[in-house]
Order: sequence, then C-alpha cells, then structure tokens
Amino acid sequence: MTLNETDLFETSAEFAALLDAGDALRPFRKRFHIPLDEAGREVVYFTGNSLGLQPKTARAYIEQELDDWARLGVEGHLHAKHPWLPYHEFVTEPMARVVGALPIETVAMNSLTVNLHLLMVSFYRPMPERYKIIIEKGAFPSDQYAVESQILFHKMYNKLSFVETALIELTPREGETTLRTEDIIEAIDREGDSVALILLGGVNYYTGQAFDMQAIAEAGHRKGCVVGFDCAHAAGNLALKLHDWNVDFAAWCSYKYLNAGPGGVSAIFVHERHARSFDLPRFAGWWGHDKDTRFMMGPEFRPLAGAEGWQISNPPILQLAALRASLEIFDIAGMPSLREKSEKLTGYLEFLIDRVDHQRISVITPRDPAQRGCQLSIRVQNADKDLFDRITQNGIAVDWREPDVIRVAPAPLYNSFADVYRVVEILRDCLR
Ligand SMILES: *Cc1c(COP(=O)(O)O)cnc(C)c1O
Repeated sequence: MTLNETDLFETSAEFAALLDAGDALRPFRKRFHIPLDEAGREVVYFTGNSLGLQPKTARAYIEQELDDWARLGVEGHLHAKHPWLPYHEFVTEPMARVVGALPIETVAMNSLTVNLHLLMVSFYRPMPERYKIIIEKGAFPSDQYAVESQILFHKMYNKLSFVETALIELTPREGETTLRTEDIIEAIDREGDSVALILLGGVNYYTGQAFDMQAIAEAGHRKGCVVGFDCAHAAGNLALKLHDWNVDFAAWCSYKYLNAGPGGVSAIFVHERHARSFDLPRFAGWWGHDKDTRFMMGPEFRPLAGAEGWQISNPPILQLAALRASLEIFDIAGMPSLREKSEKLTGYLEFLIDRVDHQRISVITPRDPAQRGCQLSIRVQNADKDLFDRITQNGIAVDWREPDVIRVAPAPLYNSFADVYRVVEILRDCLR
C-alpha cells in the first residue's frame, strides 16, 4: 500500500489531537476514575466491554446509603434520603432511555443469567410441535448453558440428545466470521414453524457483530416465535429502540458499558404488549407483587403490571446506588450523542488498524458501522498470546479471547482519539 499526503496526516498523532479537540463529549472522561499502571500512568482502557470504569460520583452515592443505614436502620426503607422501598424505581426511567423502552417495560433486578432464566420461564414455553430455540453459534457460554438447561428442564425433553434437535445454532457461511442478516432471516423462515424462541445477543461478545434486532423480531413474529435479546454488549453501546423494534423481551448487565461496577444489577425489558399478560407462567416473589398490598403479606400473588411484575426479591441498594450514579451520566450525555462519537472513534480505530497492514492481523468485526457497536475484534494469525501480553505491558488494557482474538472496545464516555492512536501504535510496535 502506498500512503498519500492525506494518509500521512490522518495517521499522525496531531490528527488524533485534532479529533479530540473537536469532541463535544471529551469532558465526560473527567467524570471517571482511570486506572493507573505500575508506573503511575493512566492505563489506556479498552475493556469497558468487560467492566466499565467507575464514575467518580459512585462512591458518594453508595456512602449516602451506608450513612442512611447507619443513621436509620430499618427506617431507611421509608426515610432514607432516597428511600429503599422504591429505590429501584429511581433507575427505571434513565434505564428506559438508554435502551429505548417505556418505563413500564423495564426494571433493574438480579443478575443477567438469572434474568435470562426467569424470562425463559415466561417466554420459552415449548409445545410438541413448537419447541426449538434459535441461538447464535458461539453465544456467550452462560447464555448457551442457560438455554440448554432450559431445554432440559422441560420434562418432555429430559434426554441430552434432545438438545441437539431443540437447539438451532446459527453459523456463519464457510470462510466468514459473522452472520449475514439474510441468512438469519432465511433460517427463521425455514425453521420458524417449530421454533418457540429466538434468543440472540444484541451484539455478539466475541465478534462485536450487532444484529438487526428489528428485522429479526419481525421475521420471528411472522413465524409465530417469541423473540428475545441478550443486550449485555448492546446496552449503553448501541442506540437501542427495544420498544419500537417490537422485541418481546431482553436482559442485560450493568457492569459493562453501563459502568455500574462489579456484580452490578442487571435489568430486563418486557414489551408493553405483555405488561398485563398475567396468565404467563412466572416464578413469583414478593417484590413482583402489587405494591399497594405487598405488606399485607396476603397468601395470593398479584403481579404488578409490566416488567416490575417479574421481580422476585428486594434489590441490593448499594449496587443500585452505583447504577444511579452511572445512569445520571448517560442522561447528561444522551445515547444519540454517545453513539455518534462511538461510530467515529471505532471508525478511526479501524482506519488506523487497516494501515498497520500486517499479514498476521485482521478485523473480524463487520465493516459496516450499522452492524457493530464500539468493539473491534482483531484476529491474530498463529494465535499469539505473547503479542497480547506485550500490549498489556505497555499500559494498554485490551482483552484476549481464546483462541486468537484481541478485543478493543473504545467507550465514548471516557476514551479519546489519542487513546485509539496509542493502542494502534503499540500494536504496530509489538508486531515488529
Ligand atoms: C457478560 C455477559 C454475561 C454475564 O452473565 P452474568 O449473569 O452477569 O454473570 C452473560 N451473557 C452475555 C452475553 C454477556 O456478555
């Protein structure tokens, strides 16, 4: 490849600085704690897809609840500055804005895989003629385990061999690394009559591919299937419109792009049209019970309308406090602006990686910005974890996924164009 003058300027550190200078979201970086390396320098952090960074406000928000607990004991449920009884409601509307939901469609509760199970209790109801589940081959292992164990749980399929016929795994074409939308739709058209549930990741954690959730939901519904998404890698990353896209249900965690801390509370989406489907089977607990009569402690379960009706237990307030701190930042920045910056940041990363022009590396994430979030997955030929280790030793946080992929996820809230410039410089050096 020959570089022309423009290429030379666009691959310079000055150009990265220029992009940062024009970035309206740049001030948001100051709202986060950036980890330091052993030499005391800020780590160039690209692992917000695993654990997002800590908002500086999180500590005060958590301390508020610790103080109220110390001061008030059980009275905190009603008299804390932010009362614990309705505490999960404080995050409902901001969370709904992040994923394009109505407030009645979302609630923060439990952990992600637990929520997938709870949602499958309601939304995976296999019948003799319609019992299959469509997932992507190479789904996040927890999702794979959850789905297979749900299939086994339904008694009529209590033999392992059944998993093979009940589970349809979508596989890319020979020689390709990601799925084509047309192939997903074609599989739904072909198999749909026997499919009870389609459950895909909104963004695949490994390849970084974003699925066309609207088209998939439409195709699934045409065939009478329920359509759900695991949005762990999509929430806070893509500008989701779960309501408009007519998705039946979704769940995601809050510790990745949503920056709510390790073990952060998960959230679910249940489309408004199921808000009053009280006949759906569900695993019940008191927090899903009608609020007006919850404390009468009556024997009969009366579920709340909407996503709240899927709650079971009273939620962890300290974790929710961190989530509150984080979602406030999302509200100030706004998902449309974040997504706009994210496309530029990742496009810039792609541009620079392409110019490293090294035979050993290739980007497996789709080239079309509409088919990816912020993450690029870089395949390294002759799987060389040493390369990854050397990158890490240079103060860069990226991650390694077996057998041969480095994931780089620039988060628009706290990553800069200079960060992107730096990771590619280090990558180029380490490849030499
Ligand atoms: C991160 C992630 C999980 C993690 O599940 P937990 O229940 O939160 O431990 C599950 N599924 C997907 C797709 C993920 O990306």
